Amino acid sequence: MRRPLIAGNWKMYKTHLEAMTLVQQLAHELAGHDFERVEVAVCPPFTSLRTIQTLIDSDRYEFGLGAQNMHVDKEGAFTGEVSPSMLKALDVDYVILGHSERRELFGETDEGVNAKVRAAFATEMTPIMCVGETESEREAGETEPKVERQVKAGLAGLKPDAVRKIVIAYEPIWAIGTGKTATPQDAQGTISFIRRLLGSDFGAEVAGDTRILYGGSVKAGNAASLLGQADIDGALVGGASLDGGEFAAIVKAAK
Ligand code: PEP
Repeated sequence: MRRPLIAGNWKMYKTHLEAMTLVQQLAHELAGHDFERVEVAVCPPFTSLRTIQTLIDSDRYEFGLGAQNMHVDKEGAFTGEVSPSMLKALDVDYVILGHSERRELFGETDEGVNAKVRAAFATEMTPIMCVGETESEREAGETEPKVERQVKAGLAGLKPDAVRKIVIAYEPIWAIGTGKTATPQDAQGTISFIRRLLGSDFGAEVAGDTRILYGGSVKAGNAASLLGQADIDGALVGGASLDGGEFAAIVKAAK
């Protein structure tokens, strides 16, 4: 059984003080929520990780903690970067890797994402590896080849036991932050394609265990129909995760 995961990608929003308020509001909205049944993670900017980690510890919140990126190396002369072990020391559980904004705006490549995925596992954190096509790729019928390339390259060299633990987020780029959402059937179609790929490369058991999320303008109003699809194991939520009430409603829709 794959436990659904709803993860909030806060991108470059919220100071550490605002982040505190948002997590407290979310905890209030989700009082009584069964976190064993539907896992919830928040991925704030680096500057808020320590604050949120402290809140999670002191108030015994059951949220998972995620980062939005990391450098591949353990340490070194890389001004402005943050290492896997620095994140691990803050009890970070998840790290979003290969988000389309990082690929498109910061030149991240499939090979670079693969190196980071391996570094995350080596540091005992779970990668949330993002894949997805642009609007023109979709119109040209290239969704599956593009996603296949990204998945295969991102998972290259991983053992089946690692693949079983990774989280893949299928995020059509044209749906991110645009208010356009893939139809539940289209999202299910591409996610089941990814699951078949995992099956052929790593075996049916691994494919059956790996969590694959949908991301792209998920909101309270469309969450239930997306999350009701057989192969969609949760959501990576951007804009709507910045509002505690809206994000909590998405979590509740995952039940
Ligand atoms: C994202 O950034 O991962 C995302 C899915 O954003 P949004 O929900 O705002 O489309």
